[in-house]
Amino acid sequence: MSTPADLLADIRHRIAAAAKLARRKADAVTLVAVSKTHPAEAIEPLIHAGQRVFGENRVQEAQDKWPALIERHPSIELHLVGQLQSNKAEDAVRLFDCIHSLDRPSLVKALAKAMDKADRRVPCFVQVNIGEEDQKGGCPIDDLPALLEQAGDAGLPVIGLMCVPPLEVEPAPYFALMAKMAADNGLTGLSMGMSGDFETAVTLGATHVRVGSALFGARE
Ligand SMILES: *Cc1c(COP(=O)(O)O)cnc(C)c1O
Repeated sequence: MSTPADLLADIRHRIAAAAKLARRKADAVTLVAVSKTHPAEAIEPLIHAGQRVFGENRVQEAQDKWPALIERHPSIELHLVGQLQSNKAEDAVRLFDCIHSLDRPSLVKALAKAMDKADRRVPCFVQVNIGEEDQKGGCPIDDLPALLEQAGDAGLPVIGLMCVPPLEVEPAPYFALMAKMAADNGLTGLSMGMSGDFETAVTLGATHVRVGSALFGARE
């Protein structure tokens, strides 16, 4: 059986190989270990193996799990990768070091207010509904320029774009479109690629890959 350290080394190796293929530096890619649904006991071994950046998709779950872990390991960086309700913006700003799911004007307002109140600037990715799927979160492609302008006016530190492409179809065209949209808008960050497609995402310019099940095993 593979240990958590083996799995981590394997993912890091695959990121490096994909980066090399695209003539990119491996250290230009941040691995966000998505630990949602997994308890602290499953997370600790990865911390001991050197992983420092983790992702959660629910504010409440992260509040239950992470403060104790962060106290023991202060160099941890915690990212929110899931949808954020405006009424949780204050909690999110206090706990997370990066938010990947800014996707609507009301959340721009709530996050700007929360960051002012906490006197803490949390970098954000704007999530784009790249497959134009009804059930998915993310800003519609056509609304992106306006949302970026609103975020800029509100003083939010937007560092890039994030997406979750449609399931069961080749993701590369979506990743390529994301890279073009980020460049067109003067953004350098690209949060894209999950367990099944992070290598493709890295070859197409991902700066942050969000990997859960390939590191922690399948979720219940
Ligand atoms: C769960 C989740 C991931 C990780 O998915 P895996 O397929 O388990 O790697 C990445 N991004 C988001 C937004 C998620 O909710």
